[in-house]
Amino acid sequence: MIIIIGAGLSGLLTAYRLKKVGIPFKILEARDRIGGRIHTVFGTNETPMEMGATWFGNQHRHLKALLEELGIEYFEQYMDRTVYYQASPTSPTELVQIPSQAPSYRIYGGSSNLINTLCQKLDKNDIILNQSVTEIKFLSDSVQVIADQIFEGSQVVLAIPPKLWAKRILFEPNLPADLIQIAEQTHTWMEDSIKIALTYKEAFWQVEGQTGTLFSNAGPITEFYDHCNSERTKFALCGFINSSYKQLGDAERRALVIAQIKSVFGPKAEDFMDYQECVWSMEELTFEASDIPHYPHQNNGNQFFRQSFFEDKLVLSSSESASESPGYMDGAVCSADLVAKKIIALNLKSIE
Ligand SMILES: Cc1cc2nc3c(=O)[nH]c(=O)nc-3n(C[C@H](O)[C@H](O)[C@H](O)COP(=O)(O)OP(=O)(O)OC[C@H]3O[C@@H](n4cnc5c(N)ncnc54)[C@H](O)[C@@H]3O)c2cc1C
Repeated sequence: MIIIIGAGLSGLLTAYRLKKVGIPFKILEARDRIGGRIHTVFGTNETPMEMGATWFGNQHRHLKALLEELGIEYFEQYMDRTVYYQASPTSPTELVQIPSQAPSYRIYGGSSNLINTLCQKLDKNDIILNQSVTEIKFLSDSVQVIADQIFEGSQVVLAIPPKLWAKRILFEPNLPADLIQIAEQTHTWMEDSIKIALTYKEAFWQVEGQTGTLFSNAGPITEFYDHCNSERTKFALCGFINSSYKQLGDAERRALVIAQIKSVFGPKAEDFMDYQECVWSMEELTFEASDIPHYPHQNNGNQFFRQSFFEDKLVLSSSESASESPGYMDGAVCSADLVAKKIIALNLKSIE
């Protein structure tokens, strides 16, 4: 039995790969939902709003291949060449032209469509929710994983960001000190971001002389994009707030966001149906404070993460461990594919 810790993209895909070749596993997930940093919420009229991962590009070959394998469609992010720009809190809002960009894509039906599709390929009892792993003991012939319940297996896959396992899970015997040190200093992509989305009855910004894109240094919003569904029948705007606004209460932050969108997009921006935000630094199963601030992607993809430990009883996954695109959905896929290959090879060898 393989025990996979974490039901984000990397944990779920590892499980799916094992399922396909008949290797038994269980996924333990601390949250009461699957998906981790992929989290689509649905507003009025089922309008999808991405609180986590949203975009990918042509360079993200692992993710694109997986979407094709699973028959999941994707579509190009709707983007005007004309955007609103606020250079500073004191300068006026300008409409400026941006150079043409490489296309970026979104997953049809929302990013959670990928998570739910993988989940549907598994059995209901393959995933156990509300199991926060606190301790892992490597015994001579097995591994004991301690969460709310105790689980026994032959191998463990840690499919959670390195900083989280390094700081939160007790290993017995302990992991190599240099691995722990690197993991503690590994940036978890977007762990400190704030995402917001608003839904509308119509795409009021899609008229001559207006645009749905905003880049701002005037806060709280820093980037804001058209977020309609692929058919453009459900209407939304979505983007990021400067992470320093996490200090404010929800109501205060929301009031500042609404004031900013009203000043940029006009009074119609106030007629939203849903307002949704996610302050990821409040999500304790994603965010972990660092002793010294990390730079973006620090130690992401470190080759140490691709070794196995305790005679192959422990393998590491998660986006941040990946050799390609670490931090991104593509990295989570790359990492899961590699880990699954490793486990399958080891298990087939032990059967021979
Ligand atoms: C706001 C935001 C925007 C993003 N935007 C993009 C984007 O546009 N494009 C892109 O490619 N990527 C983006 N990303 C990154 C992308 O979401 C991640 O790379 C990817 O989802 C990581 O998957 P993962 O499985 O490695 O980790 P996670 O999704 O973090 O999954 C780890 C899982 O482990 C669980 N867990 C944690 N601790 C324990 C424990 N002790 N016991 C049991 N379970 C535990 C967690 O609850 C979680 O479900 C974004 C992320 C965020 C937060």
